[in-house]
Amino acid sequence: MQVLSVRQPWAWAIARGHKAIENRNWDTAYRGQLAVHASLRVDLDSLERPLVLRAGWDPADPLAATGGIVAVVSLADICDAAKSGKKCACGPWAEPDSFHWRLSGAQALPQPVMTVGQPGLWMTSPEVAAALAQALSGQPVSAGRG
Ligand SMILES: [Zn+2]
Repeated sequence: MQVLSVRQPWAWAIARGHKAIENRNWDTAYRGQLAVHASLRVDLDSLERPLVLRAGWDPADPLAATGGIVAVVSLADICDAAKSGKKCACGPWAEPDSFHWRLSGAQALPQPVMTVGQPGLWMTSPEVAAALAQALSGQPVSAGRG
């Protein structure tokens, strides 16, 4: 499965179905299932953002962990309007001058599947793919947005 590393608290916000937009400075032609990996490095400046606090950021949530895959989503589309300074309807999580990766159907894992992250889109090892499949089996699909 393709994986994208995202820093906390954003990985948590995606996993818990709050954040259906991932802001990136690069585009991809890839569409489909995407695992969300929480990077080891935390975006400390964003922990106190009103958007994050209103979403109910909880550092004790198992999916607030770092260094593991916390959710599987579907990358439905990428909005490039903001890259050319245009307005779009991607909502409060969308940032200016970014590609807005539109995510849907977030499935939070019960516990993170620990693995080392990589830049860009990367593939799970067979061991991690197996652990992920196990974590997802029997999991109710949460109501994602977007
Ligand atoms: Zn947009």
